Amino acid sequence: MVEDDKAVEGKNSDLMRNILIESLSEDHIRIIDQLAEPKHDEDLAEELNIKATIIRTLLNELHSYNLVEYERTKNKRTGWYTYLWKRREDKIQEHIKNYLQQKLEALNQRLKEEQEGVKFNCSCRKVSYEEALNMGFICTECGEPFMEYDNTEEIDKLIEEIDTLKSLIEQT
Ligand SMILES: [Zn+2]
Repeated sequence: MVEDDKAVEGKNSDLMRNILIESLSEDHIRIIDQLAEPKHDEDLAEELNIKATIIRTLLNELHSYNLVEYERTKNKRTGWYTYLWKRREDKIQEHIKNYLQQKLEALNQRLKEEQEGVKFNCSCRKVSYEEALNMGFICTECGEPFMEYDNTEEIDKLIEEIDTLKSLIEQT
């Protein structure tokens, strides 16, 4: 039997891995995969062929997201500390969900802006009716008149993205 040491399993595992990579980085995920069993940072460095200092930076970043934890022991002979790292299976799914949730909120915000506020543009920016009115419908930056623009296509695209994201969140 081939041992599967991937942290994310199930039929959507590829999708979930891609989201993890998007929210962190490829190297972070390589470490998470490698931590199927607890390991010392110098062993991770050797296995992944990444400098130990970089491994430690990546581990600290993962730790700040609560995705790994460590056990510290003092070497009685040298007096140095060694760190045994473990991944936190329980937090990985939660991290994915939080990341998607934040992304959804940002998209909803953009949709709200497109639907309600932002309706005028020049060649340098988009503004609301009120903003355009306050400037007398002439952009103070580029001097062009503000024109009302059709954002239905943009709104449709955002709604589509939001629907995709919502169904993704349901699956996690
Ligand atoms: Zn302008």
